[in-house]
Amino acid sequence: IPRNPPPTLHQPELWSDEFNDFICKCLIKDFELRPNVLDLLQHVFIKQTVGREKILQKQLIELIDLNQHERIHTKKGSHMKTQDADEVDDLATLEVLDENTVADQLQNRYARDQVYTYVGDTLIAVNPFHKMEIYTPEHTKMYIGAKHTANPPHIFAVADTAYQSMVSYNNDQCIVISGESGAGKTESAHLLVQQLTVLGKANNRTLQEKILLVNSLVEAFGNACTVINDNSSRFGKYLEMKFNGGGTVVGAQISEYLLEKSRVVHQAMGERNFHIFYYIYAGLADRKKLAHYKLSDSKTPKYLYHENIKLGPDIVNNASYKEQFDAVEQCFKVIGFTLEELGNVYSTLAAILNSGDIEFSPVASEHQTDKSNISNMSVLENVASLLRIRSDELQEALTSHCVVARGETIVRPNTVEKAVEVRDAMGKALYSRLFSWIVNRINALLAKNCTSDDKGLNIGILDIFGFENFKKNSFEQLCINIANEQIQFYFNQHIFAWEQDEYLNEEVDARMIEYEDNRPLLDLFLQKPMGMLSLLDEESRFPQATDQTLVEKFEGNLKTKSFWRPMRVDLGFGIHHYAGKVIYNAAGFLAKNRETLPADIILLLRSSENELIRKLVTHPLTRTGEVDTTALCESGDTPYHPRETTNMRTQTVASYFRYSLMDLLSKMVAGQPHFVRCIKPNNDRHANKFDREKVLVQLRYTGVLETAKIRRQGYSHRILFANFIKRYYLLAYHANEEPAATPETCAAILEKAKLENWAMGKTKVFLKYYHVEHLNLMVQQAT
Ligand code: ADP
Ligand code: MG
Repeated sequence: IPRNPPPTLHQPELWSDEFNDFICKCLIKDFELRPNVLDLLQHVFIKQTVGREKILQKQLIELIDLNQHERIHTKKGSHMKTQDADEVDDLATLEVLDENTVADQLQNRYARDQVYTYVGDTLIAVNPFHKMEIYTPEHTKMYIGAKHTANPPHIFAVADTAYQSMVSYNNDQCIVISGESGAGKTESAHLLVQQLTVLGKANNRTLQEKILLVNSLVEAFGNACTVINDNSSRFGKYLEMKFNGGGTVVGAQISEYLLEKSRVVHQAMGERNFHIFYYIYAGLADRKKLAHYKLSDSKTPKYLYHENIKLGPDIVNNASYKEQFDAVEQCFKVIGFTLEELGNVYSTLAAILNSGDIEFSPVASEHQTDKSNISNMSVLENVASLLRIRSDELQEALTSHCVVARGETIVRPNTVEKAVEVRDAMGKALYSRLFSWIVNRINALLAKNCTSDDKGLNIGILDIFGFENFKKNSFEQLCINIANEQIQFYFNQHIFAWEQDEYLNEEVDARMIEYEDNRPLLDLFLQKPMGMLSLLDEESRFPQATDQTLVEKFEGNLKTKSFWRPMRVDLGFGIHHYAGKVIYNAAGFLAKNRETLPADIILLLRSSENELIRKLVTHPLTRTGEVDTTALCESGDTPYHPRETTNMRTQTVASYFRYSLMDLLSKMVAGQPHFVRCIKPNNDRHANKFDREKVLVQLRYTGVLETAKIRRQGYSHRILFANFIKRYYLLAYHANEEPAATPETCAAILEKAKLENWAMGKTKVFLKYYHVEHLNLMVQQAT
């Protein structure tokens, strides 16, 4: 008996006798394979009743019956063999649901490599930290169109649910992946994309390939080795997969958020710069092109200097880096970047690397202000030649700045410190703009595949850093935690508030569902004009302001228990986030928020003969997006609808951040949400080690326990009377009857199906998710 079903499974009209034979053999003889084949077939039959295959169908239905019977008595298929009697795939079905039970369940399951667990329709994914054989093409097939209960919980099942609801209900979907660094978000996102491209039958192979490549490409530029994760994403990513009305993938679109650009010029102990720098350095060396890009294999660029890599050879001889470089280049080419664009990208990267080596020395001046000189002019010339700008102008822009006083422009020298700051600001700006340009270019190239009638649907996948709480927390942590606060708000809204609202609207009796609303915290951050980000922006406009005056401003204006000034911490302030208390240090907040790239540098780069460099500083890319966000989040207003206006002067990091957050949310709320909660079982990246305390903390952060309770108590499905009747009337009526779309008809169907604990609203039937599964099964059996 062949293990792999022929590819025509989803096109019953193409079934040959041989294929019928195959199915019958599988069903009858191969007991192991049977549950999967049955689920696949059920899917086929739900979607289309196949007249020509009546006999086969009848046979199948009998077998499905038999199989159902067996499953009930053997507690599901073969995968359950080693499962304890009291272990469940879906924690929402547990009688007792407290922290310890959940932890026990996850721990036992983890011990037998069952890393996925459902809590209602949320998936918990515990990082296995070792390669598992559960992502094979067989698994891909097994989860297509299968019921959740038919197979062990799996990330592929989430992809399938999202895909099937998109196709059946004709609406957008959004999969939110959360978890701390190293918990497995990015891997999960990959697996979702992988499964979705199969589901979306990317008929055009190159498109499928491209979508998968896009991820690796963006990660080469946006990921880096940190102490926590060797491949840590240093930006947030929202990938939208585009489908046409028929459910075929037609393209993809990425948005990026909060790239940690400070990493370009500085890395903490034990950490590294973005992957691409090492790849390109090794790759160019391999091709004997270092000299062309003004790099040398004997001297490591400062920006790559790292306690473990003191010498260029460590990088240039690294075979893996070379391979990665070839792979990145291949990705660029397949996606459609031109050779000229590639050359420009490499020059920009090389210019950034070289610029880090420009050194300054102090010059005493007659005006008693410190001046600086460039001590290694040859490096400066290299940078200028890579950027295709004039070296004397670059020198001037680095070592001096213009001020306008009483209508006159005066040139003032830069101190060494200031010159270094300008140099680093240029490197960071060039890199982050390059990153945005690549993302935009990818989007444009992928959009070429969409024709205008593919207006279609999309499934978005959000992979963004989780909540952070380090020994020292700065502006970056504040932004990340605000983003998480907002995502948690969305989650709460979805799970709890919308649940309640709907009950009230439908006059369905709902026990008061209690949950912690983090809205006040969002107001604390985002409200205008007195929220934290607004205060920060206001303070950033005062030239005399300091980080000290900023904290004082916070203290004077933020009157809530969630904000406090801890004793003994200079420039410190504390925030009580939904996930716990965090002490921030405001040192550097103003500089990080203003993030000014001096006008001289911008003007100089605009004069570049390199088209890409010019684009980076002139085109309003989404990221540089000069956007005024004044109108975004008025107090009391649902902060969902960004309105764009152009206003370059008010652009600060905080306002851009607020804008992108709103933009992200507006995309997310447009879709039906699905949640994947990634859990890190230990801090040592060990396989088979389950640190219970660590897991419990994460469960609390993510609201998994709350979800479980609410889901179990609540009704996860609400179906309009007419839709419900259309789908299920055969259970209580004859095929030729046309019962009225009333609550009574619905009740009659539900009673006939012997279901209990449902509720009848004013326009909809309220069902638990297991009701729906049961009804679908009965309909299948009846037809
Ligand atoms: P995050 O994006 O949450 O920071 P990653 O997705 O990068 O975390 O995962 C960190 C590491 O954990 C990966 O590099 C990989 O080694 C391991 N990992 C994560 N998910 C899986 C998985 N499903 N199977 C095997 N290893 C995994
Ligand atoms: Mg990641």
